[in-house]
Order: sequence, then structure tokens, then C-alpha cells
Amino acid sequence: MIIIENAAVATVDPAGSEYTDGHLVVGDDGRIAAVGAGRAPDSYQGRRIDGRGCLVTPGLVNSHHHLYQWATRGLALDETLFGWLTTLYPIWGRLDAEIVGAAAGAGLGWLALSGCTTSMDHHYVFPRDGGDVLAAEIEAARQIGVRFHPTRGSMDLSRKDGGLPPDHVVEDTDEALAATEAAIDRWHDPSPDSMLRIAVAPCSPFSVTTRLMTESAELARRRGVRLHTHLAETDDEEEFCLERFGCKPVEYAERVGWLGDDVWLAHGVHLDDAAIATLGATGTGVAHCPSSNARLGAGSARVRELIDGGVPVGLGVDGAASQEVSHLGAELRQALYTARLRGGPTAMDAREALRLGTMGGARCLGRQDDIGSLEPGKLADLVMWRLDGLGHDGIDDRVAALVFGPPARVDLALVGGRPVVERGELVNADADTLTARARSAHRRLLGLS
Ligand SMILES: [Zn+2]
Repeated sequence: MIIIENAAVATVDPAGSEYTDGHLVVGDDGRIAAVGAGRAPDSYQGRRIDGRGCLVTPGLVNSHHHLYQWATRGLALDETLFGWLTTLYPIWGRLDAEIVGAAAGAGLGWLALSGCTTSMDHHYVFPRDGGDVLAAEIEAARQIGVRFHPTRGSMDLSRKDGGLPPDHVVEDTDEALAATEAAIDRWHDPSPDSMLRIAVAPCSPFSVTTRLMTESAELARRRGVRLHTHLAETDDEEEFCLERFGCKPVEYAERVGWLGDDVWLAHGVHLDDAAIATLGATGTGVAHCPSSNARLGAGSARVRELIDGGVPVGLGVDGAASQEVSHLGAELRQALYTARLRGGPTAMDAREALRLGTMGGARCLGRQDDIGSLEPGKLADLVMWRLDGLGHDGIDDRVAALVFGPPARVDLALVGGRPVVERGELVNADADTLTARARSAHRRLLGLS
């Protein structure tokens, strides 16, 4: 049992309950036994942690990422999405399991240090001789200790058929579908305490055939897993859809069976009012990735309208090659800034940003009953942020200090009650070792060694 006391607590429960001086108790089952004001009752016995100077929040949930991209950070720095992709596809075509494992270890370690306790991953590059890249990233997640929702991505529309990627990085349609179902068989754990769930994730309209989109949706629904893809990220993508399919991206999604409360879409930047209404009416989620959208100059999502339209909205750092920061804690502020750049200072407040990064992400991943808020009975996935140093002291509203202030140090991160970060350090891995392994993967991939 772990008992945190003397901390500010923001539960992100439906009532938005907060305690300026509160406690939280983690039971032996890895779930939250109690949360409230003042000291924990003496009847609770276990490890007592003094949270003075700290804010406890739900662990952040990363709803869109490409972990392998840690191996290709800092390239194509001034490109649009399509320019960036066509620069990087040939390099990604040389990925293998060792490189993906090293990149995933670095990416997930860094995410944990940024307050993330659950991450998805969207992996869609499977070179023929690359080995078992999905197993490699799953092993990395097990080592770091975060809850993991890897998605089995796919691409089958190459340049020769009118798509964007070169021929050698795409798969055969039937092979991709079979490998996706095999990943579900091998890895997917639907239990409420699950540390590992698979989703089905063909990459994007410009790299996937209509048949693969349609049959992926059928496969996911037959197997009871979720669906994820990129949609409405750039103007170039919209032009591609208008030219190839004669409709806009959300209309295309509807046509191929890709709307519903079991679907979440990455980006949703270029959406008109009708598209937002469609997403809201169908309960289709959006992973908002404001830093990546800014880095690629893709535009800024209409996040206020999405939330008001009833769309489940989570936050994602997106791949580390399209947003080198990849810090989920920092994404809270970026989401708030993006909303305010569009809609003025009342377009989003600190608590709404925190809600997107926690419950919003949990909804995207279908885990809202298990994680995303601090409520008795839910899994003890939480972060204790240190806010009494130079960067945050004096901002008396603790949630505002977290969101408006600089990225805060994670003093403690628990996943199912198990520590993954303590005093700003990873518990289960050594950051220098992760760095060295990722460096040699990067150098080998780029032919620099
Ligand atoms: Zn992405």
C-alpha cells in the first residue's frame, strides 16, 4: 500500500474535485483505495510519501505516437508533412527490430519522465527483413513499466498505385491484414487491468488502399479491438482525397466504415463544421497533436469546436521526428496555447488542458473506466509533480502552475500502483543506457557509424 499525503490533488473526476492539501491511498490491488482532503486515515498502513510542494494528477495518456521515429529525430526540419515523409520513408525502409526497440526504449523512457503513464504507439513500417519490430517495442514498454497500447499499422498504397510512400516500404494487403490479426491473437489483453492492448491502424488515406481501410474496420469489429488512423492532418491530404475519392477526409472515413466510438483519429486539423458534427454524433475521437502540427506547419486544430461538438479529444506528442520535444507534460501548455491562438484567452483553461491529457486520452483508448481520473476503484496510474522550485513557486493555483509553468519534474509516477519514476529518475531503466542504445541505432540507421 502507498499513501501519499500533504499534496495538492487534482482528481479530474466528473465534478473536477480538487484538494489543496489532500491524500491518496493506493491499495495492494494496484487500484485507488481512497482520495480526499487532509491526512489519510491512520487505518491505512504502508509506505507513506510526503507530497509537500507537489501536485498529484492522473497519469497522462498519450493518444498518438510513432516510437520508431526517435531514431530519425532532427531531419527534414523545414518540410511540410508530404516533404518530410518522402524524405524519411527511404530511411524508415531500413528499420529493424533492434533499431525500433532502442527507439521505443528511449521514447517511452522520456515519456514516463514527462508524466505519461499510458501510451499508444502507431507502428506502420514493417520492412521485410526487419525482424519482429512489434515485439521489440512491446518489450521496451515492459521494461520501462508504462501501460501500452501499440497499434498494428499498415501501408499498401505505394507510388506506383498513386500513393505517397515508395514501393519498398509498403506491404501486401492480405499479408498486412493477416499480420494485424496475428498481433491481436498474440498480444491483446482485454482485461480491465490490462497493460497491453492492440488496435488496428492502417496509416493514412494517401498510403492505404480503400480495401485495406474497409477490411481493417471489419477485422477490428470482428475481434472487438479499436481502430486508429491519421485523418485531416494537412491541406495536401484533403486535396489528395478530393482528387482520388471525390470527397473530403471525414466523408471518406464514413464511406469506409471508419466512424464510431471505437475509432480515434490522429490530428483532425482540417475539419469543417459538418465534419465536426459528424465526429461528435458518432463519438469518433481525435488525438490532438498541437506541437507536431506546429512543427510541420500543418495548421491548428479547431479544438474548442471539437470539444463543444462532443468529440472525445485526447493529446498526443506524435512521432519524435515531427516534434523533437515529445514531452507529454509540455503538450498541456501547447494545447492551451493553440486553443487560445485560435479563440482568445477563454478558449481553454488549465483544467481543460489537463482533462484532455488525462480523461480525454483515456476515452480515445477506450480506457475511461480504468484510468484517466483519480477515483476510488480506478487503477492507480498517477503522477506527483514537483512544483515548489524556481520555475513554479508563487503560482498559487497548482493546476495553473503545472500547465502554464515550465515542464515540471515528475517526483513519482505510478502505473497500477507500481513506481516507474521516482525523484525524476526512471525506476526500471537507466536513462544513459537508453540514450546510448538509441544513439547507436540512429547512427546505424543513417549509415553514420
Ligand atoms: Zn502520426
